[in-house]
Amino acid sequence: MADSLVQIDLKKLSENVKAIVEKYPQYKNYIGVVKGDCYGHGMKAVKALNKGGINYFAVSSLEEAKAFREVLSDTPVLYLEPVESDRLNEAQNLKLTLAISDMEHLKTVLSYKTEYSFNLHLQIDAGFNRLGFKDKHEIKQAVDMIKSSQHTLEGIYQHFATAGIFDPHYDNQINRFKELTSLIDLSEIPMVHLGSGVSLLAHEKIDIANTTRMGLLMYGYNIGPQSYGGGIKNKIRELRDRYYQKKWGLSKTIKDVKIELSPAMSYKCRILHLKKVKAGEFVGYNASYKAESDMILAILPVGYNNGIGHKNYGRVVEINEKLYPVVGEIGMNMCAVKVDNSVKITDEVTLLGDKITLGMFSRSADLGLAEALVSIGKNNERIYVE
Ligand SMILES: *Cc1c(COP(=O)(O)O)cnc(C)c1O
Repeated sequence: MADSLVQIDLKKLSENVKAIVEKYPQYKNYIGVVKGDCYGHGMKAVKALNKGGINYFAVSSLEEAKAFREVLSDTPVLYLEPVESDRLNEAQNLKLTLAISDMEHLKTVLSYKTEYSFNLHLQIDAGFNRLGFKDKHEIKQAVDMIKSSQHTLEGIYQHFATAGIFDPHYDNQINRFKELTSLIDLSEIPMVHLGSGVSLLAHEKIDIANTTRMGLLMYGYNIGPQSYGGGIKNKIRELRDRYYQKKWGLSKTIKDVKIELSPAMSYKCRILHLKKVKAGEFVGYNASYKAESDMILAILPVGYNNGIGHKNYGRVVEINEKLYPVVGEIGMNMCAVKVDNSVKITDEVTLLGDKITLGMFSRSADLGLAEALVSIGKNNERIYVE
């Protein structure tokens, strides 16, 4: 076995998408966001996503678009960032749909000399304050300019800053989007897309949207809100949330959505050495861990160079279906796990997958969910299975 190995299950990707499309059949198009090298799964994975029902993709760089085109040559791809004027020819060769984020960018695209007709999606800034138009007169002007050009206004969209689970920003952004597009006729634009995976799960369908966009969900993670557990803390949370829901007049939040998703990525490594340590000895950098008793450590060939992060907030790994704690600081290429004498040097160690959920993995490294996937994928050899 290689020191460490990330496995991507392509069949699971297809099945996840199939389950999503079956559960939410009311959309014309399903845009799969494959930025961050397909959330760390590698562009090879897009074929499986496409097979499951993703019929439109979104990338965040021309380099990603190139890697995408090597796998799927004709499926439509939306490039989410404003393309530079001297790279419009590349975008054309890659047959990309362009996201138009402001008037200056639109003028750049319209002044590009070509016979080619780009599909364009207008990006609206309904409160995110990164990219996008935020003036309704300018939006009207942009629509008119595109109409009288050789290019096609195929879509209009915005991106949510929050999931709207007991915060007013979600509803505010929808209202703002409607206000910003009030001078144009949305029904003339084939694709209207507001949303991300979590907003798809947590809310009723947005009336004006006919296309949805998603990332994390496709890779197998149900990121929808869950019901409150037991205990006094959860009771207090529930009361607080209900108070704000009333105060702000928030739209309904849907919880505990049942959908068959299974994570496509798993991450394993071998054991380098089994080390006997005596009570009172220190382990690892900065001697931050002191053995409280005689113990055996499994030394693993993975560290922050392999995408697991440097921080260790109660990280565990799985060996032979048992969980063991990572002790001491995580180095660049190694870390130590406190094991017992049932563990053999030939045993396989699971860092992510089986009993180790992405939630556990990322919490124990203080990483976001997508951040953890991206850093694992980027920093390890990946193998694909069907
Ligand atoms: C990343 C991204 C998404 C997907 O978000 P998830 O939370 O992973 O579902 C959707 N739309 C845009 C514009 C994005 O950049």
